[in-house]
Amino acid sequence: MNPKVRVRFAPSPTGPLHIGGVRTALYNYLFAKRHNGTFILRIEDTDQVRLTEGAESYIEKTLEWCQMLPTESTKLGGDFGPYKQSERRHLYTKYANQLLEAGKAYYAFDTPEELDSMRAEAMEKGEITKYGFQIRDKMKNSLSLSDEEVQARLKAGDPYVLRLKVNPDETIIFEDMIRGLVRFSSEEVDDKVLMKSDGMPTYHLANIVDDHLMEITHVIRGEEWLPSTPLHVLLYRYFGWEDTMPKFAHLPLILKPSPESYITKASLVPLAERLTDEFFKKNPEVRADYQPIALAFLKQVFQDKKNIGAKLKERKKDKPEKKILKEFLKDNLFGKLSKRDGDRLGFPVFPLDWLNVKTAETADGFRERGFLPEALTNFLAFLGWNPGTEQEIFTMDQLVEAFSLERVNKSGARFDFAKAAWFNQQYILKLSDEALADRIKSQVTDNGHDVTNETLVKVCSLLKERITALSEFWEQGYYFFEPVKAYDEKTIRKKWKPENRATFDQLVETVKNVEAFSAEEIETKVKAFIHDNELKFGNILPIFRVALTGTMKGPSIFEVAELLGKDAVIERFETAYTAFDQF
Ligand code: GLU
Repeated sequence: MNPKVRVRFAPSPTGPLHIGGVRTALYNYLFAKRHNGTFILRIEDTDQVRLTEGAESYIEKTLEWCQMLPTESTKLGGDFGPYKQSERRHLYTKYANQLLEAGKAYYAFDTPEELDSMRAEAMEKGEITKYGFQIRDKMKNSLSLSDEEVQARLKAGDPYVLRLKVNPDETIIFEDMIRGLVRFSSEEVDDKVLMKSDGMPTYHLANIVDDHLMEITHVIRGEEWLPSTPLHVLLYRYFGWEDTMPKFAHLPLILKPSPESYITKASLVPLAERLTDEFFKKNPEVRADYQPIALAFLKQVFQDKKNIGAKLKERKKDKPEKKILKEFLKDNLFGKLSKRDGDRLGFPVFPLDWLNVKTAETADGFRERGFLPEALTNFLAFLGWNPGTEQEIFTMDQLVEAFSLERVNKSGARFDFAKAAWFNQQYILKLSDEALADRIKSQVTDNGHDVTNETLVKVCSLLKERITALSEFWEQGYYFFEPVKAYDEKTIRKKWKPENRATFDQLVETVKNVEAFSAEEIETKVKAFIHDNELKFGNILPIFRVALTGTMKGPSIFEVAELLGKDAVIERFETAYTAFDQF
């Protein structure tokens, strides 16, 4: 019988969790639930230098907000704790020593300067620069030094690291659940550091020891860890744990949005200029007089925005500069989604707003942008996976039901913010007016207004179809709660004629005389007024709307009027007419 599924999400608390990390957590969560397994949150905080205040609680809050709660974690406890690596140091020391005693690891005393000069020398001669079987004998370690010297150095307290002694002629094969059979030779793996000179383990050692001790059955993580996996497999082998080694699944990268989605006539030239600048900053070796050629090339490539990818792949008799430029553009236009892409194109790439208290660095979150967590998780589920059917809207339970690693794609998933917004809109539409009211109430109270639930629910019913994010609610509906801030100038200039003031005053009288102030009654009376006076809807209704709301956009103006109430409507007309006269 297969062991019970146990998976872990193992972020390092070095900053806010990128949505790629959220997707990794999601796939782990779905996989665990699908198999009635356990979803573990393990904090990998052994890199003390990169540790960032607030990052751990950010991770916890994200999982909470997204409703992907772990079954075991620092907060919740569990039988396999502690769940934070800094609290498990004794274990790593113990297992590192085990490798040392078995001759699978060794002490290395090389100073950073010695390592640098080894690399520089090897580079010059065109030789291997990695610390491995080819050069370990020439370095200062317990394989090259005498026992006495090693003991003397240890006694004297010389700083040292522990390195894995990788046997050069081993074949490493593992079955990746997404990529299929992956084959490496151990020659490609260097003698990685397992314990650092500060007595902390490296990611690799801690990760393997913990996965083993926590009885992890499947390692589901980002593709960037695929190159480390051969080393991990060797570690399982050298520890003698190969028979319980977890299965691996490496998730495709989340890629930048397609340039086609943001290149416009107006942005084409500035984009070409910015990228040319960046190219020369990054590649100072490229001759300066290549600048105009590069810029012209970029502009030309951007003109045909549908075929940028193909253009960059073309390799016809390219000069060396062109080759470097094309590589640079490929990374910059099609590579991994980064925070910069979000900043530049105006969308969040993090789940929650973030503030680094030390550096004051900030990042925007989907939550604060008005996304519902259900929409974000649904969107992320589709970034790299598909159910094989047309269905796109999935509740978390439905995702659990439908999810399988077999349906995760090998190739990168392109981020598309418009699609995220579409998901969000679908989820907003699915909310009841009451539920929407609950979620946006704070926007009204934060702006200093008391509002009854009844009114709020009615406003929600009018605006629900018009917003794609909760955060748009106030901007689109503030006029239900406070006076109009600005009037749509274009409409007023076109439709407001001071000589028609008398007509508009009569319209106010008409509205005053509506007794049961309901949308239907107001509409009937206003339309009758227009009709009886042989006026045109197109000349009256725009003014009617802009006077009450300031804008030509929005729900039925008669519904708006009903909600505002007669007194407010009359008052708004009077204020507006005076203002319109000034235009
Ligand atoms: N701590 C690693 C990270 O930050 C975990 C990688 C893994 O899942 O093995 O992504």
